Amino acid sequence: MAAEPSTQAAPTADAAPAVAQDATKKDAPLDENGQPLSKGEIKRREKEAAKAAKAAERAAKEQAAKEKKAAEEANDSAADNYGKLPLHQSQERSGRSRLSFQSLMAPDAASQYPESQPVVVRARVHNARAQGAKMAFITLRQQTLTLQGVVTISKEGDEHAVSKQMVKFATGIPAESIVLVEGIIKPAEVKSCTVQTCEIQIRKIHTIVEVTQRLPFGVDEASRTEADYAKEDTQFARVNLDTRLDNRVMDLRTPVNQAIFRVQSAVCQLFREQLNSLGFIEIHSPKLQGAATESGSSVFEVSYFKGKAFLAQSPQLAKQMCIAGDMERVYEIGPVFRAEDSNTHRHLCEFTGLDLEMAIEEHYHEVLDVLDSLFLAIFKGLKQKYSSEIDVIATQFPCDEFTWLDETLKLPFADGIKMLKEAGAKNLDGSELSESDDLSTENERWLGRLVKEKYGTDYYILDKFPLAIRPFYTMPDATNPTLSNSYDFFMRGEEILSGAQRIHDPEFLIQRMKECGIEPASMQGYIDAFNLGAPPHAGGGIGLERVVMLFLKLGNIRRASLFPRDPKRLNP
Ligand code: ATP
Repeated sequence: MAAEPSTQAAPTADAAPAVAQDATKKDAPLDENGQPLSKGEIKRREKEAAKAAKAAERAAKEQAAKEKKAAEEANDSAADNYGKLPLHQSQERSGRSRLSFQSLMAPDAASQYPESQPVVVRARVHNARAQGAKMAFITLRQQTLTLQGVVTISKEGDEHAVSKQMVKFATGIPAESIVLVEGIIKPAEVKSCTVQTCEIQIRKIHTIVEVTQRLPFGVDEASRTEADYAKEDTQFARVNLDTRLDNRVMDLRTPVNQAIFRVQSAVCQLFREQLNSLGFIEIHSPKLQGAATESGSSVFEVSYFKGKAFLAQSPQLAKQMCIAGDMERVYEIGPVFRAEDSNTHRHLCEFTGLDLEMAIEEHYHEVLDVLDSLFLAIFKGLKQKYSSEIDVIATQFPCDEFTWLDETLKLPFADGIKMLKEAGAKNLDGSELSESDDLSTENERWLGRLVKEKYGTDYYILDKFPLAIRPFYTMPDATNPTLSNSYDFFMRGEEILSGAQRIHDPEFLIQRMKECGIEPASMQGYIDAFNLGAPPHAGGGIGLERVVMLFLKLGNIRRASLFPRDPKRLNP
């Protein structure tokens, strides 16, 4: 039914302030008090009258347009097939299943969905464009997969009505809005989408969530590959890392980020699976602590009721206490806080620690073997099950495939120093390297390159570090007291794990604290953990984001962290 024409009178020139229309040169118009108006006032009143007339005309036009639209809508045979859905408050549960684009990836997918069985999908609008007034193409996106949607005005008599208004509505849906679509899957050759053998002919399209805000950047823009940038006829601007991190929600929608965080999740899963299979149990240690466990320099202090607490900079003590508590083999995946003002490509103020600790029988190399088997399981698992994600990531971060040996190289620290010296490496201050020096980041990377050249591996272990450069709780070597039973693991020349046999004897622990200039009373809690007797044990800590960054060669740890925290970034 056509809407009733409006009965409300629109303002007209009549409503303007009284200007005597019949004024003659002799008779100047009078104001409301019967006084003749000045020339200036006459002009002002005439202007106002003209303005009011224009406003009235505009209002009348708007009203007519509204009435026309209402009339069209009333005649719109497809009115129920499109529009904005009411706020989703879990009003009903029809149980009707929603199609995942994944099930359309098979070459003959269309044959699985006959015309008599329309499908329902929830997806984001990747983009929408009109093809004349009768047709629109809408690219729908579910995570990394895209499907072409087509809305075409239906022919007369077609019960599945698609009207002109519906096509217009569909074309106007802002990118990134979430829609609920019903339609028919039809075979089609579509080059521009990831689903390439079919499309969906849309019969109904409703918005669940409309995105009205201006987008910081488009998913396509942030998904450009190195090949796109290399094209000679195009000059694309790159979306820089800060802009991405400032708008991380948008950034996470790119195929590369979807893949990176699947790989990150896989590393945790493989870590758990491997350690569970070796008889470890998962623990959850507190992150709020009454005292700094290792050193006070890199610890965040927080208020704790009337006193203060510290955010755990590693689960070190908790893991060791579990071993003293006869838990034998434990691991944890949890946040680690470091208050270091390190603005580098590989340091965060909060990262995810993959930690483990285990009692040993005869030798700390038992732990080395467990850790090594763990990394090999992770590398193999990623290669076997996540090759498509790795390929997607390589489109933006091309790199040589990560390599490792069947038998992992365990290089004594002293041999590593020897290799560096032979290659001409020096300390940061220009002095000669010695077997008791710690490795600078640069020398660490240099050694990685030398190892790769000589042994052909991106993954190796450096064993037997000098005691002087390891924490006080590290067990010294039994025969050479300048060395320790400690190790670091490396990927592409950067440290990803640090670990050691720990001192389990409280007397010896106190002695080592004193030798390291630590007042034992300041770490009484640590010593107490061993007073009731702890078995010999060893363990290690791995940085999850570093493993992901280095395996995929992302170049910056922030890319492997969902919402990175560094000295300059605490949001989002
Ligand atoms: P680095 O010398 O690289 O600063 P570290 O010797 O302080 O590291 P550990 O305290 O032994 O490292 O931590 C174990 C592992 O945790 C490291 O090998 C690394 O993978 C990870 N890690 C340490 N510090 C950070 C950090 N600030 N950000 C991200 N990961 C870290």
